Amino acid sequence: MANHKIIIAIDGFSSCGKSTLARELAAKLGYNYIDSGAMYRAITLYFLRNRVDYTDAAQTHEALGNITLTFELNEENHRSEIHLNDENVESCIRDMIVSEKVSEVAALREVRAFAVAQQQQMGEKKGIVMDGRDIGTAVFPKAELKIFMTAAPEVRVMRRFKEMYATNHHITMDEVRHNLELRDYIDSTRDESPLRQAEDAVLLDNSGLTREEQLKMAIEWAKSRAKKKAV
Ligand code: C5P
Repeated sequence: MANHKIIIAIDGFSSCGKSTLARELAAKLGYNYIDSGAMYRAITLYFLRNRVDYTDAAQTHEALGNITLTFELNEENHRSEIHLNDENVESCIRDMIVSEKVSEVAALREVRAFAVAQQQQMGEKKGIVMDGRDIGTAVFPKAELKIFMTAAPEVRVMRRFKEMYATNHHITMDEVRHNLELRDYIDSTRDESPLRQAEDAVLLDNSGLTREEQLKMAIEWAKSRAKKKAV
């Protein structure tokens, strides 16, 4: 009964721990995990590398026609990683240079249409956990479980700082704070699918929760939604 597959949408502000929860939840349930932010980051990387002026609609349209995004399983770490035109770009898409531009790129209507069409296709067979900003509102408005994550701003800054410091010892807390504030502002005020909590989403503030505690809560929600679906 409980193995009825559902769609789980996880949205929230930057660095709330969405991807950690989404990945662990997918592993527990035997579902696919899709990091939708990685898609916007890979598109941004392509634009930067190819000097695409994304304020120009014609250039953006042409560039998107040259982009193929796929998620492939990395046999070493067992993670599904994003490939841009067959190149694994998982490690370059987190660089500050991409983080600084990604929210501008993700605010473009044509970019969103390009990414959302692929995301919806990935969810056709259900059994998927996807995290992002508009998953419960625009990509899968009928998702059986929607989680909206939040955490105290300083907790989020510290988490992202630690993550970035591991590969870049020059990064400062101020840079990280500024980038998170800017992205959250652009993401929640843009015209196209702004970040907001879906009316039927459960709110998860994980400021004081351990990874295990938040995972336990999410598993319970998922199981009860899967059961409901089976009735
Ligand atoms: O999740 P992550 O922080 O890697 O996402 C990078 C950026 O991609 C976000 O700041 C946002 O601008 C954009 N994004 C989005 N919609 C999504 C996922 C990410 O606009 N579903």
